[in-house]
Amino acid sequence: KSKESGKNTYYIYSPSMNIQTYKTFNLEMGLRHALELNQFEFYYQPKVCAHTFQIIGAEALIRWNHPDWGLVSPGDFIPLAEETGLITEIERWVKFTACAQNKAWQRAGLPAIPISINLSAIRFMENNLADNIIKALEETKLDPKYLDVEITETSVLENEKAVISTLDKLKNIGVRVSLDDFGTGYSSLSYLKRFKGRIDTLKIDRSFIKDLNREDADNSNFITKTIIELAQHLQMKVVAEGVETQEQLQILQSYNCEMIQGYYFSKPVPADKFAQLLQKGKFEISQKSQGEDVNK
Ligand code: C2E
Ligand code: MG
Ligand code: MG
Ligand code: MG
Repeated sequence: KSKESGKNTYYIYSPSMNIQTYKTFNLEMGLRHALELNQFEFYYQPKVCAHTFQIIGAEALIRWNHPDWGLVSPGDFIPLAEETGLITEIERWVKFTACAQNKAWQRAGLPAIPISINLSAIRFMENNLADNIIKALEETKLDPKYLDVEITETSVLENEKAVISTLDKLKNIGVRVSLDDFGTGYSSLSYLKRFKGRIDTLKIDRSFIKDLNREDADNSNFITKTIIELAQHLQMKVVAEGVETQEQLQILQSYNCEMIQGYYFSKPVPADKFAQLLQKGKFEISQKSQGEDVNK
């Protein structure tokens, strides 16, 4: 999927290499140097209170700023980073940078909010995950309650014992944990019970939000409402991902969804732009689609 690869390096192309191998090879070469060349950057997307429109959190989403290819989205390089093991180094950067940026904003007097990072499923149960988080918090002096770790449903499905032990370590550190893309994994609902008190927030996957009020997908309203009630029942918070329209917002408000994330309020924006949003603190009722000019 690395659409733009292929510039400048055709001298290493040999006919025996097929195009896909070549692209992957090229992408991997670039990825290996991306950290030392300081080519990663976070875009931040606000999480907004569904009722006051106040910014009550943010998600840090990685971008690879490549000199030839422009902004490469995580979907195009995270899988390769996972395959090659480069993800370990990248996630060290992710943890440190998110904590450091948050601390810098707090020092500058901006409202203190938790910032979420995404952690790869395949590394989730590794022992040093918690250690690396502790290190990032210590180095940056960020209060742990301002770090939120988003993990996907699939990463908690296997090896439940190890998962629970990692979750308990995170709990002890005092960071928050969110379950990302909720509703898309092959979960039985009974496993969620065992995560009560261990997972703070469920994030309803965009696929359900996208289909709200669509006649050809009328189960989405019911599923969304059910996930919200389930979260409340388990004393978890709930975020709706991918909210793009006022209609979706209104449905979610009527279901008592607490938090909204999506293009309706803002696309993910670069750090300086996000600081401006945070400085204002909230969105006006009539205000929408901030940052439409950036990131796409
Ligand atoms: P995710 O964690 O589920 O992040 C939400 C994705 O939905 C983001 O895409 C965001 O830009 C997009 N999004 C948010 N609101 C809307 C909306 O209203 N409409 C639409 N169409 N899309 C919306 P992005 O930034 O391309 O990230 C994709 C995925 O890459 C993330 O999904 C996450 O799984 C992964 N990712 C991002 N940053 C990192 C990272 O630092 N480490 C790891 N391991 N994975 C990351
Ligand atoms: Mg996420
Ligand atoms: Mg998600
Ligand atoms: Mg996702």
